[in-house]
Amino acid sequence: MKNVTTKKSSSPLKIYCDIFGHKYEMTKKVTSHVKEYTCTCCKRQLTTSGNGKLTELTPKYQEINAILADIYTRRMSRLKQKSLSSSIY
Ligand SMILES: [Zn+2]
Repeated sequence: MKNVTTKKSSSPLKIYCDIFGHKYEMTKKVTSHVKEYTCTCCKRQLTTSGNGKLTELTPKYQEINAILADIYTRRMSRLKQKSLSSSIY
């Protein structure tokens, strides 16, 4: 008889985070105010919410951030074009 030890998904890393706190690293800059963070231990993801506080990165927030990033990059490229054309004159 084979003794197969099936480990459950309660990883020791998660326990580490529970005790010592998460170790967040910025993984994505959405806008100059909104950023996404990922815990290097348990891969938990956070994002900056509308009120400037950190909140869990849910699929809904991922969607919001994608839209925000789109608006932000478009605005930035427009600003760049403006400053470029104004520097010509
Ligand atoms: Zn963690």
